[in-house]
Amino acid sequence: MKFPDPRLKKVCAPVTVFDDNLRVLSDDLLETMYAAPGIGLAASQIGVLQRVLVMDCDKQSESRNPKVLVNPKITWSSPEKRVHEEGCLSIPETFAEISRSEKVKVSYKELTGEDNEETFTDLWSTCVQHEIDHLDGKLFIDYLGAVKRGLIVNKMKKLKREQIKDQKQNKKAKGSP
Ligand code: ZN
Repeated sequence: MKFPDPRLKKVCAPVTVFDDNLRVLSDDLLETMYAAPGIGLAASQIGVLQRVLVMDCDKQSESRNPKVLVNPKITWSSPEKRVHEEGCLSIPETFAEISRSEKVKVSYKELTGEDNEETFTDLWSTCVQHEIDHLDGKLFIDYLGAVKRGLIVNKMKKLKREQIKDQKQNKKAKGSP
């Protein structure tokens, strides 16, 4: 799902039922994230307005290190910041330097419903903050000044118009003899 889809601006609802459907959703999210490829994905980005996110920021190791966080909540943020050039699978071809806490402590639930808490640093910290923002309907471009943000919004709207035009033309082409 791409910006400016209105679902990206919605505040997602907490998960209350920890069943097979939740497992299927998390598998879906991980598969979509790895296929993109991306390092994080929130459920709202695939149109499911529930507080679930997945991440894998482990670039060093060959093997995968997937994390699934249900109902995540930041309980502590370090005053130290780190700046990272962020992108987003929902805002293609757009990057901007965003300053966020270098470390955050996050409480969340496992897929089983069990409580857990973890401290994230560096890229993991940036990523978890970016994804939790998604669950609150906030995008990384919302941190930018009005002018910069305006340019990106216009670019995305233009991209969408072009896609719709292309789709219409494709339909016409298929329909003609
Ligand atoms: Zn994103």
